[in-house]
Amino acid sequence: MKSESPALANANQQSRNRIALLGSTGSIGTSCLDVIAAHSDRLELAGVTAHRRWQSMAEQCRRFNPRWAIVSNADNRSAVKAEEFPQGTEVMFGPEAVERLASHPDVDTVVVGIVGAAGLRGAWAAIESGKRVAIANKETLVVAGPLVMELAARTKAELIPVDSEHSAIFQCLQSGRPADVKRIILTASGGPFRGWSKNRLETEVTVERALAHPTWQMGPKITVDSATMMNKALEIIEARWLFGLNADQISVVVHPQSIVHSMVEFVDGSVIAQLSPPDMKLPIQYALTYPDRWPGVSPTMDWTQSAQLDFQVPDMDAFPALQLGFEVAQRGGATGAVLNAANEVAVERFLEGRLRFADIPRACREILNAHNDDPHPTLSELLRQDVWAREEMRRWKC
Ligand code: MG
Repeated sequence: MKSESPALANANQQSRNRIALLGSTGSIGTSCLDVIAAHSDRLELAGVTAHRRWQSMAEQCRRFNPRWAIVSNADNRSAVKAEEFPQGTEVMFGPEAVERLASHPDVDTVVVGIVGAAGLRGAWAAIESGKRVAIANKETLVVAGPLVMELAARTKAELIPVDSEHSAIFQCLQSGRPADVKRIILTASGGPFRGWSKNRLETEVTVERALAHPTWQMGPKITVDSATMMNKALEIIEARWLFGLNADQISVVVHPQSIVHSMVEFVDGSVIAQLSPPDMKLPIQYALTYPDRWPGVSPTMDWTQSAQLDFQVPDMDAFPALQLGFEVAQRGGATGAVLNAANEVAVERFLEGRLRFADIPRACREILNAHNDDPHPTLSELLRQDVWAREEMRRWKC
């Protein structure tokens, strides 16, 4: 590091964007750390959280020296060795500690990289305290979209999407007014079973095959969701709330190369797309720097090589999860909470070999049909519906 006067060093210190990274050991978390490391003059890691993998988190702390490290699973307390963390890092436990970090006055930006409905509490705390929230956790909006958007409007929290499709739409939206948006087009890689027939999906899918995603390196939950296309269903719902659209303003197109990350069509017929090689560091960085752009740390497009970009209509019959996404985006209420919870348990059961692949959307459909509709649920009602849907899915038999 260059030598500089203590006063100057202090001023630099204060102007750095202080980041709380929720879910630091997952794929979003580690990509986010790469971004922070590449821009350490402007970004500072203030705190990290992990659910189980405290040893990886301790290693990250030795590298970045954050003020706080939180193990959200308090059952792990006796196993955690404090001496593995650096001196300056305070180690805390439990979901309440995650909320305290997400709302701490010495944190400017909260990156929510926790997978599943578990990410909602931390995101909620960050939005409640008016932070910039870089949101990679789609469940926050899928489960509680209207409540989350209302809260953000009240506290002036900035919700910046990190999901690659939603980041793309967010970037494309910079070129027009919200009122002039005709529709958005979400792209989908199609996952490992693109082009498979309904029949083949019923009989030939193994866990191993479902976990082999052709273009994106991600955790197991989201990889299975990509294979069923439930991931796209959740993204339809996420986009509906985040961008304040109607369900019929959202389209899905299969794009196997994962280069065009999504598009916005304006009323004059102009379509604006965002392109880049598939790498989460770009949308993460944009969420931290918006409206500025900084030199990137992701691979860039190589236009000296010929490339092909293909677009196909999705097969709604073979991938019925997509239908569920459109339906839930249209119905609102507690349907997002129910679909998300049912799917989370279905994926767990599939990975354990206790549920067949094609039964994931089938069981989700049945549970969605059986739930008690509530057009304007409170947060606690949504959480109750979440618990109910999980129990139903654990009991589900074909
Ligand atoms: Mg995505």
